[in-house]
Amino acid sequence: MKHCKNNIHKYRRFRVNPGDKESKRYFYRCVRCPHSTYSKEMILDRMSECWLCGRTFTITVNSLQLKPHCGCKNRVTIKTPQPLKPETVDLLNLLLEKVNNGLS
Ligand SMILES: [Zn+2]
Ligand SMILES: [Zn+2]
Repeated sequence: MKHCKNNIHKYRRFRVNPGDKESKRYFYRCVRCPHSTYSKEMILDRMSECWLCGRTFTITVNSLQLKPHCGCKNRVTIKTPQPLKPETVDLLNLLLEKVNNGLS
């Protein structure tokens, strides 16, 4: 049976009773091998692979989510490109003009 290298599993949280939305009973299963556990304590402080960045990290109470991640989600900020300010565009045009003049 295939098992995870170095016991580093990639856990995912599942409901014990999928139909019961109120239920707080979960179990954790590795998505790559048959390993699974009902006990939270079993996987706390164990190494796991992050769902988001793929790095290996130690599971804490906070990272025990549906798809456990190392906390990188909170660190990653999505950069939206800022539109150029008019003065920047002017400056660029000026520079371009100078370059063009220098070439001719
Ligand atoms: Zn595994
Ligand atoms: Zn991560």
